[in-house]
Amino acid sequence: MAIRKIVVLGDPNAGILRQKAKKVSRFDASIERLVKDMWDTMRDAPGVGLAAPQIGVPLRVLVAEYEDDRAVLINPEITKAEGEERGTEGCLSIPGYQGNNIRRATKITVKGRNEKGTPVKITATGHFARILQHEIDHLDGILYLDRLDRKEDLIEVSEEEEEETAPEGASVAKR
Ligand code: ZN
Repeated sequence: MAIRKIVVLGDPNAGILRQKAKKVSRFDASIERLVKDMWDTMRDAPGVGLAAPQIGVPLRVLVAEYEDDRAVLINPEITKAEGEERGTEGCLSIPGYQGNNIRRATKITVKGRNEKGTPVKITATGHFARILQHEIDHLDGILYLDRLDRKEDLIEVSEEEEEETAPEGASVAKR
């Protein structure tokens, strides 16, 4: 079990949060280790999703877990997106804040590979779809801050309130 340090805005290496991550081309033991560490780090935070750039690794890898849904996605691509809904999001890399009224597709289909390199296809709706879209954004250097329609939608939150936000917040996952 290895918990890695989460990069937050303001850190000297926070630039990685704004870069486009690279595709994984070799599925070897280092990728399996990375995914394991990402699960450990995400659950320790705790959060419901984590993208590799958030632990300082510029690769297109994400993990997500919400209620009965769980996914490891490497080189993910959204192949279908339907509907639109607004919701609140927090981010482990932006502690102390949450964004309201963030628009995401209601239902998405994502293709990618798992840590073994096996092709996977996931269809997600609602909250889990929001988490996946948030994490895929991370792989392109996009933060929820970029998706705010109005400045007033960004609010400061206490630690307790923060635990109730999604997608990387905690208690939503435990509910
Ligand atoms: Zn995030």
